[in-house]
Amino acid sequence: MKRIYMDNNATTAVRPEVLEAMLPFYREQFGNPSSVHWAGRAVSGAVEKAREQVARLINCSAAEIVFISCGSEGDNMSLKGTVEALRDKGDHIITTTVEHPAILETCKALEKQGIRVTYLPVDHNGMLNLAELEAAITDKTILISVMWANNETGNLYPVEEIGAIARKYKVRFHTDAVQAVGKVPVDVQKANVDLLVISGHKIGAPKGVGAIYIRRGTRLSPFMHGGHQERNRRAGTHNVAGIVGLGVACELAGSHLGEDVAHIRRLRDKLEQGIQAAIPEIKLNGHPDPDLRLPNTLNVSFAYIEGESLLLNFDMKGIAASSGSACTSGSLEPSHVMGAMCVDVVLAHSSTRFSLGLDNTEEDVDYVLEVLPPIVQRLREMSPLYNRKEPMTCEECQIIRKVH
Ligand code: PLP
Repeated sequence: MKRIYMDNNATTAVRPEVLEAMLPFYREQFGNPSSVHWAGRAVSGAVEKAREQVARLINCSAAEIVFISCGSEGDNMSLKGTVEALRDKGDHIITTTVEHPAILETCKALEKQGIRVTYLPVDHNGMLNLAELEAAITDKTILISVMWANNETGNLYPVEEIGAIARKYKVRFHTDAVQAVGKVPVDVQKANVDLLVISGHKIGAPKGVGAIYIRRGTRLSPFMHGGHQERNRRAGTHNVAGIVGLGVACELAGSHLGEDVAHIRRLRDKLEQGIQAAIPEIKLNGHPDPDLRLPNTLNVSFAYIEGESLLLNFDMKGIAASSGSACTSGSLEPSHVMGAMCVDVVLAHSSTRFSLGLDNTEEDVDYVLEVLPPIVQRLREMSPLYNRKEPMTCEECQIIRKVH
């Protein structure tokens, strides 16, 4: 059976060059970079090289990069570390309703500690109103946290404008760039970002490693207490092989931003147009302008169908896609991102995300376009909603809403 992977926003394969670079650090170069002897010295240079590689990709200095274990850690560290460091200055955070749970759940935890959080709404396309963001700022606001790109829709947020607003009001700006890095140019200077989070497994490095950019001079209380690693900013023995892999993945990501990303974008556009041409009664979730979304992401709802049934049918044909984000799938609740965009609850349940990667080919897209229309047709024919000729009554809509 063919195997086609279109779930790169959930995780990516480790790139062969990354794995090659990592292997020596599991074998002969096993030292702890904090040790002063030969075994430690041999690997501390590799950690510093990786720091340079990460810094180069996002245009900062190596001293501003701290290695961490994953995107969730970076998001927690940014929010909780800011609150602890700036509690004397204020108690208000601004974020959005479409952030990843790593932000939203952290905000909920902080609310229990007395922090006030403004969750900015989005419109039907999932976009923010920057006037609303500006109006939400008070003299107690200590942090604005807005993601660079959304994991479900691929929507890109206007980080440069948000950074300019944050600078105008002297408010710290954090961005979760887990989905953006490696897919679009990310420059912390242009966006005036103070804190930015990267996750290795979204860009061809292994799971269990990430990085946070902390602008020089930004006070951030440590999230982990223990040893003095990372200049006291993150305790814990370094994941040397993972860090080396992250460095190489960042270097590769920088060189992929041109032609390779253009290739992925062409494939995504072909898939989008092919689905639109072949299947009636669908809804694209996210900004209609493909340039305002990540070049690899397409999120589409197929009326009258359960997303989970579609994914199971896909799986039987060897296609890996996703409904909602990987972290939230498994629950029958429609995704909070679809909810925030006011996508009809029935359509929200059929939302399907295709997130392409470097390894996808033209043939992969042709295959998906070949198998998708008959699957959709078959599932629709089994759907009681599809078979009835008259539209649903209001009572029926209410019942479906309750059931879901
Ligand atoms: N932020 C975004 C936007 C994500 O998509 C994810 C993972 O899907 C995370 C944070 C969490 O990253 P990690 O899986 O490395 O903890």
